[in-house]
Amino acid sequence: MQDDLERVLFDEGTILTRLDEMAAQISEDYRDRELTVIAVLNGGTKTTGEVVFKQIALPEVAGRHILILDDILDSGLTLSAIRRKLEIARPKSIKVCVLLKKRIERLAPIEADYVGFEIGNEFVVGYGLDYMERYRNLPCVGVLRKELIAA
Ligand code: 5GP
Ligand code: MG
Repeated sequence: MQDDLERVLFDEGTILTRLDEMAAQISEDYRDRELTVIAVLNGGTKTTGEVVFKQIALPEVAGRHILILDDILDSGLTLSAIRRKLEIARPKSIKVCVLLKKRIERLAPIEADYVGFEIGNEFVVGYGLDYMERYRNLPCVGVLRKELIAA
């Protein structure tokens, strides 16, 4: 499966080290406050950019400090839609944490407060990121070979 990668960007050790650093930073920043983490399991973004919420009820967020966790900040449409939805429930604060952030212009006004790694405008897979439900289980993050991506 790793043969399907054009190149590896971050190997497992590099990712784990960075995750430890981010965890330490977040623990430090929220030392005196209780934190509610909301992990985005599947943004549900369609290619149209419309975000569909399949979950019926959102977790309790009123009056809480919220950290939204997602895999990658790309166009920003997903995270900005989620953020707007959460803001309606009046949390005390909202911050955003992503493993990866693409160095591109966002289509929606959102930035991440915690970023694992910045990458270029390339399609990456591995470490939870999939392409058509494949490659999620790769222990590294890499650029998928372009000929494998359907036009
Ligand atoms: P958005 O464009 O809304 O910022 O990103 C929406 C979602 O698209 C991300 O949460 C992620 O699931 C997916 N996505 C964006 N860029 C990539 C990429 O390079 N690789 C993979 N596997 N998924 C991506
Ligand atoms: Mg996602």
